[in-house]
Parts: sequence; structure tokens; C-alpha cells
Amino acid sequence: MNEGILVLNSGSSSIKFSIFSYERENCNLNLVYKGEAEGIQSQLHFVVTDASATKLIDKRIKGKKAEGLSHEDALRILRQWLDTNMADLKIVAAGHRVVHGGDYFTKPVIADTTVIAELEKLVPLAPLHQPHNLAAIKALASLHPDLPQVACFDTAFHVAQPPVAKEFAIPRRLSESGIKRYGFHGLSYEYIAKALPKFAGAEADGRVIVAHLGNGASMCAMKDRQSVATTMGFTALDGLPMGTRSGSIDPGVILYLMSELEMGIDEVTELLYYKSGLLGVSGISNDMRELLESNSPHAARAIDLFVYRIGRELGSLCASLGGLDALVFTAGIGEHSEAIRKRVCEDANWLGISLDEHANVKNGPMVSKDNSGVSVWVIPTDEELMIAEHTYNLINKN
Ligand code: ADP
Repeated sequence: MNEGILVLNSGSSSIKFSIFSYERENCNLNLVYKGEAEGIQSQLHFVVTDASATKLIDKRIKGKKAEGLSHEDALRILRQWLDTNMADLKIVAAGHRVVHGGDYFTKPVIADTTVIAELEKLVPLAPLHQPHNLAAIKALASLHPDLPQVACFDTAFHVAQPPVAKEFAIPRRLSESGIKRYGFHGLSYEYIAKALPKFAGAEADGRVIVAHLGNGASMCAMKDRQSVATTMGFTALDGLPMGTRSGSIDPGVILYLMSELEMGIDEVTELLYYKSGLLGVSGISNDMRELLESNSPHAARAIDLFVYRIGRELGSLCASLGGLDALVFTAGIGEHSEAIRKRVCEDANWLGISLDEHANVKNGPMVSKDNSGVSVWVIPTDEELMIAEHTYNLINKN
């Protein structure tokens, strides 16, 4: 019987999951299923596909409870599906995406009760994500107390950054209490850092900037495939404008919203996390595909702002590296939008970037011309595989 690893990415209203299998004598991890239980706390929508994205199940499940189905209910449904459909695969561990590991968790760990208690302390640093990540770990522990669970952190990849890259110019006692830049999307950057030598050879160890452009978007500067600087900071709200998040904003705006417009904390949180970014500027959608297809001038402005801010951050990250050897695009927009890549690369012409338009239309992997001063790549990220690998390595080490 093959063994399998369950990978979970749990949010407030959904649990995304993937199942990887491997043979005992051969540790190559293969994706077998992936899916989502969406609609936690209301009506659950349960979808599973196989590795080639063919739908195996797509059903809506009504709970009996008035408050809808919980994370635990969703995991129970997933477990039942696995038990009936995967008789030849034994799940031996679960790996979780956990947004915040703080300063202490610099690599993946077995999420036992002591670790969970420590991670609970970080909830105030990531209130919109951390509680839901932990809810899935706790729910699975109560359903399967003997199943080893591994927490993999989005912050861990950035721990190696120089102190100056992580500090805000605020009084020392506040910095020392943990108010500093942590950076996120670390599992994606770690995957790219690992995969890049296959594409870029020795350049991978040079000065590299990765643009993770999805619904959440950030950029990371790497030297020797280690994080040197990144655009997200204390929270995943900083840096680039995103689908619904504002990205960097003058902190004075927040003071103004609260003092002059009398907005409360919840209202400001809702505004900056869910009503801003591409959605806020366009007034149409947070989905880049819709904006690219729209004739609205507001959609065009949202795209202009997105591209402009990427260019500004590119310059800033180049300064942190002292130059640039390679630029990598990844995540939904980075992997699929030739139009956005083209505009970013045209604006970055001053860096010596010369785009190969033909290769760009085909989504790469190399999208720069041979004589470009900086090589440019499109590399699909795989955070789930990264979590599965960490989980496999940790349980086999123990
Ligand atoms: P996340 O994982 O942060 O939720 P994704 O990495 O899935 O987000 O990226 C979602 C974004 O990618 C959306 O804005 C979507 O419109 C965009 N996207 C996906 N495919 C394309 C495409 N072909 N052209 C332009 N944008 C695309």
C-alpha cells in the first residue's frame, strides 16, 4: 500500500486540500487529488479533482446545525471521502500552511499541543488567517489524535533577512516587542528558490527578484536563494496592491480615516483587506482577467496602478540587491497574464530587460531574449508540494 500526505490550507470559510502519495522505497511525491471544502459556517461546497484537474466530486452539503458546518465537520467529510475512495493509500501525516511562525518558528515543526499553544500567541499578528490555520490543526487532532501534523510557515523563508530589512523606524521597545517586518508567501518563494537552478542554472544563486502575483501579491529579493527583502511586512497587507487589499498606504491615511471620518477598527480593517486593491480602484472586480477584458477606464486605472507599483517595488528591491540578474513571475497573474508581464518588463527596460514577446505569449519558462541584461522567467509555484516535502522530511526524520 502506498503512503500519502494530506496538505491543508485552511481559511475562515474554506479548507483547500491536496493529497500526495509516495512509495516507501521512493520518496517522489505525486499529487493524486486536490480540492476544496468551501462555505464553512454556511452551506458546504465540496469539490475534489484528480491530478489532471478532472472533477471527481462536486456537491453541496447542508448541515443540520443553524451555524452551518465547522472546520471539523468539513474535515470529517473529507476523511469519509478519502476512506471510501482511497483504499490503497494510507494517510500517514498532514502538513498545514500556517501564516505566522513569528521569530521562534524558523522551519516546519510537528504541531503538538505545546506548539499549538505557542502559535495561538501569534494570532494577534495575523488575526484573519492564523486562527483558521490553527482551527484545522485542532480539528484534525481531535478527529485523528495519532496522525502527525506538521506546521509550515509563510514567514519562515524570510527569517534570514538582515535585521535592517526587518525593522520599522519606531521606538526600540516596540520593535523588540515584535512590531517589525516578517514577510509572507514564504512557501512560494522557497519553492521557486528550489526550482530555479533547473531553469536559470548558476544565475539562480545571483541577485533574483520573484514577483508572486496572485490575488494576494508580493515580491521577494533573493541572493544565494535566501530572502534579502520582501514587500509584505508586519502583515500581509503591505506592499503591492492586491485583489482586495490596499498594499502600502501612508499610515497617516489610517489616522485620518479614524479621526476625521470616524471609522472604527472593524470598518478600516474591512476597507483595507476586502474593499481596496484592484476591486476598490476598479469598482468592478478583484479578478485580473475581468479587468483585462473590461472597457471601463476604472478597470484600466486599477491595472495601471498594479503595474506601476510593481515597477516601484522592483526598483526598491533591486537597490536591496545592488542590481539584478534574474526576474521570476509566478502565481495566478504572474504565470498566466502575458499582458501584465509585458507591461512590467517594458517599464523595467531601464534595468536592461528585453522581453521575448513570442516566448511571453507561450508563458515561458524563459521569456527574455538571449541578449537581455536580466533573464526573465515564468515558473509555476507549488506551495502544496513544498508543504508535502517538509512534512515528508520531518516525519521521516522523527
Ligand atoms: P491566490 O492563490 O492568491 O488566491 P492565484 O495565485 O490563484 O491567487 O491568482 C488569482 C489571480 O490570478 C486572479 O486575479 C486571476 O484573475 C488571475 N489570473 C488567473 N489566470 C489569469 C489569466 N489567464 N490572465 C490574467 N489573470 C489571471
